[in-house]
Amino acid sequence: MSELRNLPSVDRLLRHEDAAGLMKEYGRPLTLDAIRETLEAIRTGKSVTNQKWSEAEILAQAGLLLKDWTFPTLTPVINATGVILHTNLGRAPILDLSFYKQISGYCSLEYDLEEGGRGSRSDHAEKLLTRLTGAEAALVVNNNAAAVLLVLTALCKRKRVIISRTQLVEIGGGFRVPDVLAQSGAKMVEIGTTNRVHPGDYEEALKEGAGALLRAHHSNYKLTGFTSEPSLEEMAEIAHRHGTLLIDDLGSGTLLDTAIFGLAHEPMVQESIKAGADLVCFSGDKLLGGPQAGIILGRRELIEKIKKHPLARAVRIDKLNLIYLCWTLDLYLRDKSGVIPVWFMISRGLEELDQIANQWRKTLKTGDVIDGFSTVGGGSLPGETLPTRLLAINIKSPQNVLERLRAFNPPIIARIEKDQILIDPRTVLPGQEHDLIEGLEKAIFSWDGYFRDAGLTGMIDPRNNLNR
Ligand SMILES: *Cc1c(COP(=O)(O)O)cnc(C)c1O
Repeated sequence: MSELRNLPSVDRLLRHEDAAGLMKEYGRPLTLDAIRETLEAIRTGKSVTNQKWSEAEILAQAGLLLKDWTFPTLTPVINATGVILHTNLGRAPILDLSFYKQISGYCSLEYDLEEGGRGSRSDHAEKLLTRLTGAEAALVVNNNAAAVLLVLTALCKRKRVIISRTQLVEIGGGFRVPDVLAQSGAKMVEIGTTNRVHPGDYEEALKEGAGALLRAHHSNYKLTGFTSEPSLEEMAEIAHRHGTLLIDDLGSGTLLDTAIFGLAHEPMVQESIKAGADLVCFSGDKLLGGPQAGIILGRRELIEKIKKHPLARAVRIDKLNLIYLCWTLDLYLRDKSGVIPVWFMISRGLEELDQIANQWRKTLKTGDVIDGFSTVGGGSLPGETLPTRLLAINIKSPQNVLERLRAFNPPIIARIEKDQILIDPRTVLPGQEHDLIEGLEKAIFSWDGYFRDAGLTGMIDPRNNLNR
């Protein structure tokens, strides 16, 4: 116990030369916290106490704490899964950050350069979106969940909203269509059955009037077998005959026809507008291939009403995402969508993928190149796959190797099938190949020098560092 009383004071530790280094790197307040926490852990016996702690050792422990506290958890990764729109890996990847220069410092976000006064942040994207889709007007918000909630709140509060049971889906991450409807204050009217809904079901429900018919994309859920849903044209005709609105939550939506790439036809934004939907909502970072955003397109008077709703301000898009969105839309306008990473990956050919996988196999001197499938992901095209060529590595404990790959800098995310590690070149971005090979080599053939930071070598988990 006398050991404990002999612990140096915080002040004394702060005067130690090692503390100067910590304070320079982490700042005085955080270093102070770390020293206090380390001393506390020693005192309360969270660490083995029957040992003499030198000042340098205490500060070294504090240093490990500081490293852990500031260790970045949001970091670039290599996506070797072959899932193009991987929701856990940031959905649509961003290749080129040069456009961000346009808004470093001040920018004309809400400034009308012609008039010299207040402008609207929504004008920048609206101009591009209306030209691309044929819609009268547009509004961009923070994400598509916000877009759907905003539309329903602004236009359907306390009104009946008719939706088919075939579309009462949960898309994941807490977005359930019935819950969003409830949150908006609309009264949900369910029609049809889980597998089938008919035009007559809509007609019947409309006898009591409604604020809108809502169509929701099934997202990552596939309706197959004995199923039926009326077309959007039929729904628009019914809605308009009854003097009500048709709102279409497209989820992903796409401006390009996915069938060109050998996939099923994903509903296109232009088709919804043409079919007569009064409002269409979709995501910025699914098949559009842009940043997180929610895009609302449709009739001008409705968009104007939505823009004025207080919730619109609460869910508005920020300038970084807006500039990226405009940059992405501009590429579509100029017919250069092939450079958008999502479309670049979707359109990669088997021959190219085979060459890459074989190159990796040669460099690593292990594995086989086999046939496999990539997926689009992101709640679009469920069950649809793109043929790919995979580097398959047979290894004793694939789970361990997967873990090591995740601990590499940058972390490599791969998958296991039939006890093989599978590496899909389709989603590995050009420029990441060198890191990928190095990570694979280390994870498979050696463990030494493996940790991201040499300072952590020998430490299993920096969070356990007080239990020495
Ligand atoms: C993905 C999706 C949403 C939510 O879009 P976020 O941009 O993720 O907020 C809403 N509805 C459908 C049908 C979707 O697929």
